Order: sequence, then structure tokens, then C-alpha cells
Amino acid sequence: MNKTRVVFFLLTTLLAGCSSAPLNLEIAKERVMKYYNSGKYDSDLNEIVKHAENKFGSITPDDSTAIVFDIDETIFSSYEFEKQIGFGYVDSMWYNYLSESKEPVIKQTKSLYDFLIGKGFKIIFLTGRNIDQYNATYKNLIYNGFTKFDTLIVRQPNEYDFTAQKFKSIKRVKLTNKGYKIAGTVGDQYSDLDGPDHGVQVKIPNYIYIIK
Ligand SMILES: [Mg+2]
Repeated sequence: MNKTRVVFFLLTTLLAGCSSAPLNLEIAKERVMKYYNSGKYDSDLNEIVKHAENKFGSITPDDSTAIVFDIDETIFSSYEFEKQIGFGYVDSMWYNYLSESKEPVIKQTKSLYDFLIGKGFKIIFLTGRNIDQYNATYKNLIYNGFTKFDTLIVRQPNEYDFTAQKFKSIKRVKLTNKGYKIAGTVGDQYSDLDGPDHGVQVKIPNYIYIIK
């Protein structure tokens, strides 16, 4: 996946109440689970998507106006998978999980996607997943009703070592050079949103890991 996962970093800095002392790992895991299971994650997402729909609703798209979506923790949730493995990360387990094409959809971002399709925006999926995960990713998108999109962009072998932000920035610039007007970017990581040609930035919560 070519990413550095800093598990619970956000949790220790945000949920621990700004204390600089490291949080006990088991307590951190409990707080993460509480955030996701208590309804707070869902209510945060509801607000974020409502705000995004207001923003995008004020734009009149033409044939080249596009919104760029990340995939992991933006379209699909790996929370249950992560919980099962104790919020750790093992490359082979992650690859096996993705290859099953069974990641559950995040209903709020599906709703945002439907809203944007209805408005006439072009949709582009831009993920840090590798080319060998393309087919499994495509299959799960279609299965979950993401049937209208211009392209699904994954990493090619020569891009595996790029940071997420570099990879995604390069791709957005290429999309712009092709003629797309990127009106917004939706992602769970700041590396999805920062850099050139991002338009309106929609940050989806993720208290499980950070990718730079
Ligand atoms: Mg993501």
C-alpha cells in the first residue's frame, strides 16, 4: 500500500484532549472504537456531507467539471477489518482483504456521489492502491452502485514509492492538463486534499491511520 500508518496519532492528539503525554495503546483503541460505534462518526459524516452538498450545489457544472474521490476510508470503510486485526497493519493481510472486494461502502459518501451525479458532475476515483488491486477495486465500486465515473486511477509500478500527496498531486495536474476542471476533492487524508488543483476540499474523518 506504500503508506506509513501512524495508528492512533490523531486519536492521541485530538481525542486525548490535547495532552502531550502518550496515551496508553489499549485506551487509545477503546476511544477509537467508541468514536466509530457511538454514532459520532456517522453524525460527523452527516454534517460534512451536508456542508459539501451545499458547496457543490452552488456550482453549475459543465462537461469538464469533476470531483475527485479517494477510495479507502472515503468510499469504502476498513474499520471492521482494522478492528479485527487490532488496528495493526500487515501488507499481505491488507492485500488479501482488498482482493475479496467486500469492503463495506460508507453510505454518506455514496449519498454525496449520487448527489453529484444527479447534478451532472464528472467523477474521478484517485486511490493510492496499486495496479494489481485495480480489478478488485473496480468490481466493488460497481457492486456498490458507483457505476458512473470517468476513470479509476491507481498507482503504476513506477509510482509505488511516491508519497501519497506527490502521487495524487501529479495525477490531478494531469487531469487538469487533459481539460478537467476539478471543482472538489474528497478524502480522509490531508494528502488527498493538499497540493495543486484540489477545488473544494472535503475532509472525511479517519481516526485509524495517517498517510502522508
Ligand atoms: Mg483514503
